Amino acid sequence: MSGPSFDIAPYHSTHPVPARAGHERVEWRKSVPRADRVRVIEHTCECRTVVYELCAAAGVVFIRR
Ligand SMILES: [Zn+2]
Repeated sequence: MSGPSFDIAPYHSTHPVPARAGHERVEWRKSVPRADRVRVIEHTCECRTVVYELCAAAGVVFIRR
């Protein structure tokens, strides 16, 4: 029996790159809910311990982890 061939490799999305020379540290602040709904536009790969999300809510775009 033959069927379509699929490459069943694990799926990975974007991985954060290591910090570059001259980088600035981000000051992470405690999350303050400002909208009922937050739309996640993009996120880093869930295979890492920390996942970063690019979000949009109430006309504001922000990154959360
Ligand atoms: Zn990954």
